Amino acid sequence: MSHSVCVNCGFVILTEELRTMEKSVCPKCENKYFTMTFHSTVQFLSNNTTKIKQKDPYRKSKEKLRREHFVGMEKNSKGDLMIKERLIDKDSSIYYEFVKNPDTGEVTRLCKESLKEHMDHGSAKNKK
Ligand SMILES: [Zn+2]
Repeated sequence: MSHSVCVNCGFVILTEELRTMEKSVCPKCENKYFTMTFHSTVQFLSNNTTKIKQKDPYRKSKEKLRREHFVGMEKNSKGDLMIKERLIDKDSSIYYEFVKNPDTGEVTRLCKESLKEHMDHGSAKNKK
């Protein structure tokens, strides 16, 4: 979920709400132009690595980060440079991780599950 802000008067409305409205106009001043308030930061790192973070500034500090996407290369614990992709999407509840050895072509990690499932693995409470 994201928010939209009226360009004219700064009125904040949920984007989903805006889509379902009969007329997409600001309820306050009837302006038709909104800006989406998902804030993205893109970091370009070495080895063609890109890190994208999407934040929702209207949430509490802990919940601001909504989506994190890493594509590129990263060293593993042994210091080998591995091809890596990782996506954490809180709104769509997706956890995806893919790690491949560029020399051998071996996929050392492939994980696709809901974020809830992923959190459950990590939680000590759910240990059997
Ligand atoms: Zn307005």
